[in-house]
Amino acid sequence: MTKRASDSEFDATRKAEIRGAELARRVIASRGTSDVFELARQACVRIVYERWPLVTVGEYDPRAATIRVNLAALEQSRQRNEAGVAWASPKMLARMIVAHELGHLFDMREGSASSRNRKEDAARELMAHAFARNLLEIPFIPNCYERLWRSV
Ligand SMILES: [Zn+2]
Repeated sequence: MTKRASDSEFDATRKAEIRGAELARRVIASRGTSDVFELARQACVRIVYERWPLVTVGEYDPRAATIRVNLAALEQSRQRNEAGVAWASPKMLARMIVAHELGHLFDMREGSASSRNRKEDAARELMAHAFARNLLEIPFIPNCYERLWRSV
């Protein structure tokens, strides 16, 4: 019997979730911390704060060994806090962004091959979200915050 597309999509999502959770567990165990800034320091990665249009909230540049955090996202978070519709403080959002990018970093450093197609890209994103959620013990679905900033 052949699987329906939705079944295999579900499997891929579950796999990415599990991979992200396991990666977070391994990183915490081997590095002895879940502090994103300490993890970045140990991984010899710089964290820089820059401003660019809100198409992404953060980026990991492996060649420059740099994680970039979008100041526009932190600014938006600050405004929402002031308006009383906050879902994360700017500090928490910065930690979430760095955690997500660290997910990509550790994934790559464990030898994960680069994506060949959109499905693999999507799985990689889910994995990084799951990594961040497990690292920071965030109780909501991993790509929830992405949806929030995209909905602006
Ligand atoms: Zn990502």
